[in-house]
Amino acid sequence: MISSMERGNSLHQNTKRPIIMHKLSKYNQFQPWFDGYYIAYNARSGAVALMTTDNYSLLSGIARKLQSGDANFDTEEQKLLTQLKYGSFIVDDEFDEFETLKFTHQLGRFDSTSLGLTIAPTMACNMACHYCFEENKKGKMSSAVIEAIISFIEKQARQLKKLEIGWYGGEPLLAMDVIEDLMLSVNDLAQEYKLECGSSMITNGYLLNRENVDRLRELKISNAQVTLDGPARLHDRKRPLKNGRGSFQTILENLKYASAKIGIGIRVNVDKSFTKETIQELLGELAEAGLRERVGVYFGQLEPATTACANISESCYDTAGFSQVEIEYYRLLLENGFRIDKLPAPAVTFCMAQNINAFLIDPEGELYRCFNYAGDKKMSMGNIRNEINYQHKNFIHLFRFDPYADAACRECNLLPVCVGGCPSRRADRDIPRELLCDNWKHNLAPMLEIIALSRQQAAAAKKE
Ligand code: SF4
Ligand code: SF4
Repeated sequence: MISSMERGNSLHQNTKRPIIMHKLSKYNQFQPWFDGYYIAYNARSGAVALMTTDNYSLLSGIARKLQSGDANFDTEEQKLLTQLKYGSFIVDDEFDEFETLKFTHQLGRFDSTSLGLTIAPTMACNMACHYCFEENKKGKMSSAVIEAIISFIEKQARQLKKLEIGWYGGEPLLAMDVIEDLMLSVNDLAQEYKLECGSSMITNGYLLNRENVDRLRELKISNAQVTLDGPARLHDRKRPLKNGRGSFQTILENLKYASAKIGIGIRVNVDKSFTKETIQELLGELAEAGLRERVGVYFGQLEPATTACANISESCYDTAGFSQVEIEYYRLLLENGFRIDKLPAPAVTFCMAQNINAFLIDPEGELYRCFNYAGDKKMSMGNIRNEINYQHKNFIHLFRFDPYADAACRECNLLPVCVGGCPSRRADRDIPRELLCDNWKHNLAPMLEIIALSRQQAAAAKKE
């Protein structure tokens, strides 16, 4: 039997249907696991399932028959075939998976029914992180820019179905008044035009106090990503406040209340200074604060993304190196009873750079196509107060990369998940071809094991 971990379990068999020939999906991965199981994964559907060794042998027989054009399956084979089709491990022979993915990707690129705005209400920050690429800036978004953003949304509201607002900076909570002004109007527009609206924030967490959390909830900002760069002793060194003091304890206290009210993800920016011991220490501090079940923890690769931060390149992992330590750190999460949120899920596009209707807006209304460019005027593609110019070189710069036209990506069985990887890595950095690939290319098999174990742990906990 195949036990589905991602989808429903059984489908009825209908033997009266006309015979349709099938083939194995190009995007499958089957890997042996322990206790006589295989992990089955399909990158196009995102299905992850456990398969018995007996069923894996049955599948090998089915595959041989499919290759030779033999459509005579016995009852057991037919049953398994039906389940495999449900997870898209097997598809109709005439179904062109690659062309379908390519078409969906193109639709996603030019989708004007969805608008994504990442808004930096200020580039000022209360911290002085040594790796930060953002220069020390002051000031916040003017009411003229706020109005231009509202009018930009309103102009296209009729054609929109979905609106995603992300708050970014600098430290966005230093400009709470701008956030309030904008969100009140955004929520009114969402209601008036019946838009599916989601809003989240990337914050350093220092000002994520009770008052601000309650206000964020009222404004329907339902998720926040907070960065903790290691346990207290390391974080306070790497992310000191402007006045030189540490921030860890205040952030931890803030998270106790915040995680009960909004979704909290903790990003740990990993560089070579990290060890398993430091991650273990951090997890211990989070658990002691009662946050184990209340936050999702994930690891981010610290990269010298711009020339402004080239000074940190010595201490950064490349993607292959990061992918290996990432496995160890996710194992630690598992061993310490934290949930694993990271999944090799299929995506239509990689990020805003591949979407025609997604922009980052800085406090002056300048529009960008990548987080790395925030506030860097020479990478702006225009201003929100003017018409969007899709011929602008800074729009084309990242948008032109098409993974479905790239020879290596076309052949890659992780294309539906990786979608060619970060466009800025390709366009802005001189790095070897194999390091352009997303982490999954380097660590899929061990990460699938960790994900399977975490699902088992969660299922066992539910039963208790
Ligand atoms: S291009 Fe890369 S760095 Fe820029 S937003 Fe996309 S994924 Fe992030
Ligand atoms: S960048 Fe690498 S992992 Fe991603 S689709 Fe292309 S070849 Fe595959």
